[in-house]
Amino acid sequence: MTFEALGVSAPICQAVAELGYEQPMPVQEAVIPHLLGEPQDLIALAQTGTGKTAAFGLPLLQNVARSLDESKTRTNASGHARALVLCPTRELCLQISDDLTEYSKYLPSVRILPVYGGSSIEAQIRTLRRGVEVIVATPGRLIDLMERGVASLDEVQTVVLDEADEMLNMGFTESLQTILAQVPKERHLLLFSATMPREISSIAASYMHHPREIVVGTKNQGNANIKHHYYVVSARHKYLALKRIADYYPSIYGIIFCRTRKETQEIADQLIRDGYNADALHGELSQAQRDYVMQKFRIRNLQLLVATDVAARGLDVNDLTHVIHYGLPDDIESYTHRSGRTARAGKMGLSIAICHSRERGRIRDIERISHATLERKNLPTGQEICQKQLFGLADRIERVELTEDATLESVLPDLLRKLDWLDKEELMRRIMLMEFRRMLDYYESEEAIEEADDKGKLPTERKEKRDKRNAVAEEGMKRLFINFGKLDKMYPNKLIELINKCVPGRVKIGKIDLMPRFSFFEVDEHEASEVVTSMSSYEVDGRRIVVDYADAVGASEGKRERRGKRTHFDDSPRAPRKGKKHHDDYSPRSSRKGDSHSSPFDKYKGKKKSRR
Ligand code: AMP
Repeated sequence: MTFEALGVSAPICQAVAELGYEQPMPVQEAVIPHLLGEPQDLIALAQTGTGKTAAFGLPLLQNVARSLDESKTRTNASGHARALVLCPTRELCLQISDDLTEYSKYLPSVRILPVYGGSSIEAQIRTLRRGVEVIVATPGRLIDLMERGVASLDEVQTVVLDEADEMLNMGFTESLQTILAQVPKERHLLLFSATMPREISSIAASYMHHPREIVVGTKNQGNANIKHHYYVVSARHKYLALKRIADYYPSIYGIIFCRTRKETQEIADQLIRDGYNADALHGELSQAQRDYVMQKFRIRNLQLLVATDVAARGLDVNDLTHVIHYGLPDDIESYTHRSGRTARAGKMGLSIAICHSRERGRIRDIERISHATLERKNLPTGQEICQKQLFGLADRIERVELTEDATLESVLPDLLRKLDWLDKEELMRRIMLMEFRRMLDYYESEEAIEEADDKGKLPTERKEKRDKRNAVAEEGMKRLFINFGKLDKMYPNKLIELINKCVPGRVKIGKIDLMPRFSFFEVDEHEASEVVTSMSSYEVDGRRIVVDYADAVGASEGKRERRGKRTHFDDSPRAPRKGKKHHDDYSPRSSRKGDSHSSPFDKYKGKKKSRR
C-alpha cells in the first residue's frame, strides 16, 4: 500500500517520502481514505507511536489546501482557521505542529500555528492576526485567545481532539465543551484516544454525528518502533563518522557501545576533547566513578554515554533516543539487547551501526536472526548537519519556557536598546553564527570520509582491485589470470601447488594477487604459454580451470570466470552447487571410488578435459 493509493496528494506524498515514510502505518490506512472521502466524524482508538499524527494530519492538510484553492482567498482576517487540533500538553502541541509543518512543506498556502500556555501570548496574537489556516492548541490558551477575540473559529471545518482521554484526565472537559460550542455545526470532529472512558462517549454523544469507530489494535511495540541504520566506512574514519552522526542528531540521548574497555575510554576521551557532552562507563572504573557517570546519564546531564556491553548492563536507563554500535558486537543477541534500550513507551528509536566493510556480512546475519531490517545509509553531509543544528537551535529557542526572571527583567530594556540597531534577520544571523561558527568551519574543511558505495565497496577496495587488475608484471615475467580466488580457498601455497601439478617441470613463479573470485600470478615469460595451455586443460572437481594472459582478459575476466564455472568435462555425477561455497568442492570426496586424497589439492591431478 502507498500513500498515493490512499488518495494523498502529490505534494504531501513528496514531503512524507522525504521523511522516510515508505508506506502507511495501519492507522493511516484506516483513517486517511476515510477523511479524504466524504468526511464523517470519527473515533479512533490509537496510542502514541502508531502514526496517528499523520493519520489525521495528512488528510487534514490536504482538505485545507483544497478548500483554500477552491475559495482562492486566504484567511487573512483575524485568525480565521480552517482546522483546529486540540491536545493536552505543550510538548505534544509543538510535536504535532512540527509534524504538520513537515507534512505541508510543499503546501505553501497552509500556515500552522502552535498555541500553548507558557509562551508569549502577544507573539501568538500577532501571528493569528496575520492569519493561519491550522491551529494546534492546548485548550486553556486557545480559550484565552478566543476571549480576546483573536482566535475566531467560525470557519473551522475540522476539529481533532488528540489524546482526548488525557485532556479529560487533565480537567479540560469544560474547556473542550466551550471550544466545541463555538465551532460551526457542520464541522467534522475527529477524536483520537488511547482509551475509551465514559466521558469520551458522552462527548461523542453530544458533539458527534454518527461517528465511525476505528480501533488500531496493536500498537507498534518494541522492535517495530526501532529503526535500524548502518553506515559502512573505512576503519580509520569510524570516529569521524560517529561525530557526524552525533552532530546530525542535536538532541540525541544515547549510548555508544564499544567492544573493549580501552576503545570505550579512547572514544569517550576523544568526544570530550571535541566538545561533546560524553563520558565513559566500563569495568576499569571504580564503583564510585561508575555510579557517578550513571547518575549523570540518568538525570540527562550527560548526552552520550560510551560503554561496554557488560558495564551498561548495570544501567537502568532505557528511554534512549539512539543506540550506536561503534562496530558490531560479536553476538547477535547483544545487538538486539543493545537496540532494545531505545524506542520505549511507544516512542520511536534509532539503532545505528557504524561498521567497517569487513563487517558487512554480519549485517545479514543480524537481519536474519533478529528479524530486523537494517538500512544502509550514507553519512549526512556537512551541509545537512549544519542545517540540522541550526534548526535544532531554533527549536530550542521556541521551546524556552518564558518564566519571569528578575535579573533578566531588570536588564532587558537596556539590552533591547543596545541591540535595537539590528533587525530580526541580522540578529538571527549573528546568534546562529556565534553558536555554529566552529561547526560550519569544521565541516567546510573536514577530511572526506571514505564510505562504501551502493555495492557496499569502499573506494580503497575498488582501487586496490583496479590496481591489481592493471598491475604490470616484473621484468622477464608474464602476468596470468586464473578463475579461482580467495572464496574458492585458493591461497598462494595452494596456487603454487596447483601450477606445479598441472605443468611439467619447475615453473618460476612470481607475484601472486588473490581476489575474491579470481586471481593473478606471474610466471617466467618463457614458460607462460606452456602454463596457459597446460593448466587450462585441467579441472577441479568439475570446474574447469581457466588461465589466460592478464592483459588479454582485461576487464571482462569476471564474465569469463562465470562462463568457465559451470562447464563440466567430467561425466561423473556431482552434487549440486549451493551458493558460493565453492570451497566444499575441494574437500576429498569419499564417494569417489579409488580416491584417497591426503590433500584436497591432490585432485588437481584432475582429469584432462575432453575437448569438444
Ligand atoms: P505518532 O503516533 O504520530 O506520534 O507517530 C510515531 C512515529 O512514527 C513518529 O516518529 C512518526 O514520524 C513516525 N511515522 C508516522 N507515520 C509513519 C510511516 N508511515 N512510516 C514511518 N514512520 C512513520
